[in-house]
Amino acid sequence: MTSLWLIDTPTPARLPVTPGLRFDVVVVGAGLTGLTTALLLAQSGVRVAVVEARRIGDGTTGATTAKVSLLQGVRAQRIRERHSGAALRQYLDANAAAQQWLLTYCEANDIPFQLADALTYAQAESEVGAVRAEHEVLRAAGLPVEYLERIDTPFPSFGAVRLAGQAQLNPMGLLSMLAADIEARGVPIYESSRVLGVGFGRGGDHVVDTEHGPLHAETVVLATGTPILDRGGFFARLIPQRSYLAAFRTTDPLPHGMYLSAGEPTRSLRYVPDPDGDILLVGGNGHVVGRETHTEECVNDLIEWTRHWFPSIEPITNWSAQDYEPTGELPYVGPILPGVNGILVGTGYAKWGMTNAIAAALALSGRLTGKPPEWSPVLASWRRSDLASLPHTAATNAAVAQSLSTGWIRLARTAADDVPPPEGCGRVERRLLRPTATCTVGGVTTQLSAVCPHLYGIVRWNAAERSWDCPLHGSRFAADGTLLEGPATESLPLLHKQIQAPQQP
Ligand SMILES: Cc1cc2nc3c(=O)[nH]c(=O)nc-3n(C[C@H](O)[C@H](O)[C@H](O)COP(=O)(O)OP(=O)(O)OC[C@H]3O[C@@H](n4cnc5c(N)ncnc54)[C@H](O)[C@@H]3O)c2cc1C
Repeated sequence: MTSLWLIDTPTPARLPVTPGLRFDVVVVGAGLTGLTTALLLAQSGVRVAVVEARRIGDGTTGATTAKVSLLQGVRAQRIRERHSGAALRQYLDANAAAQQWLLTYCEANDIPFQLADALTYAQAESEVGAVRAEHEVLRAAGLPVEYLERIDTPFPSFGAVRLAGQAQLNPMGLLSMLAADIEARGVPIYESSRVLGVGFGRGGDHVVDTEHGPLHAETVVLATGTPILDRGGFFARLIPQRSYLAAFRTTDPLPHGMYLSAGEPTRSLRYVPDPDGDILLVGGNGHVVGRETHTEECVNDLIEWTRHWFPSIEPITNWSAQDYEPTGELPYVGPILPGVNGILVGTGYAKWGMTNAIAAALALSGRLTGKPPEWSPVLASWRRSDLASLPHTAATNAAVAQSLSTGWIRLARTAADDVPPPEGCGRVERRLLRPTATCTVGGVTTQLSAVCPHLYGIVRWNAAERSWDCPLHGSRFAADGTLLEGPATESLPLLHKQIQAPQQP
């Protein structure tokens, strides 16, 4: 389903890669991390190009809630549980620098944004402790947060922590401006050009292997959400989280804060100014990618919750998107492997990338121009304190291993069914021993290999998005097998396709 921002902001299509060209830096991925990094590098006189697999905004940035906030749910206490008070302060400094850069950029380029209070609220008595803890941890770190015993919302709330003067915007307005700004500086943005790998060329250059041929660069920045190359094994230190969003027209009065529940099921709310009256945006019901069977229920439950507390709502659109939670709680920004300075990554923003992607861009461009920000060590891609998160990383990978074996065991027990799945449905089955993913979408029944080309997980049907999702590391594929996102770089091989006869009325 299409995000509100993509419906509202048409962007011009751009040409694919012209093979053979050389740049100082090739940035892979035209989301917020990639475009901001490219702009900052271009401003410093670096010869840079951006390569995007799909279109600008087709990744998470085009589908985000776009709250630009230093109060980030209960992140501060999660970081503090694993890291020192000094590390948390540096993380907040990084996010504050990013927020300031972003809002200054918006002001200078007439990109609308709204200042708003951010609130983490308790939706039940059981969440009050977490809200109080967030208040304490952030106050100790020097943020001017307030604890409120009551907040005035149509939905239940049992106290909240508030940080005034935060912001929200339309992320596609931002990406469109960044892209135009970059191109005006002579930086090419190549769309529909998936990067398949990065190798070594002559004279220490890297060869960026795209589906339309190679580019050459001294340095490659992977701004692809989760890094696409398996070097560094970031997929094992990231948990891919999918969440749902819905936009509504309503005549009910809308609160003008940016709300996020402290506990589960997550409820995230903001308004979107619109000439026809403010739009309400509600998000939540997240889960690890590919590990939820009833994805349509996640959407329906969100809509029903909203209808209960805002009875006049009329749904406009709903969609889902994914972001990557770092097992070490802090983002990973820097070399893909310790000491490998020619390939850099920016990832692990835990659904707070509106500031963290900008912080990553400031750190990456600062590193490449010899002026890294003071706070950049806290976002390092490899840090000693990651050893402390090894138990959590091990637990994450145990869950991955379980998903891997469950997928193959379940498959061993299924036999092929010759009746095509009903419209909008998909199933995984064994056909002549071959793991096969069969679905029917738009009257076409497609059989694909069910084995994710990344690390051989068995994909699962996502009815809400009509996609095949891998439960291991979050790669996702369209109903026809085309790769959508995640660490994989190849699509699911097509086995068979059949157009169904239209149903008799
Ligand atoms: C539901 C949801 C709500 C969120 N709400 C908020 C919020 O309110 N506030 C906040 O701060 N953060 C929020 N976030 C997080 C934030 O949106 C993301 O962290 C941020 O947008 C990530 O930006 P990015 O540039 O790193 O990734 P993306 O925007 O995903 O960009 C990566 C790009 O790389 C491209 N790519 C991938 N592979 C290749 C390849 N092989 N070759 C070429 N290109 C490739 C993709 O097509 C994509 O365009 C939210 C996230 C989700 C999922």
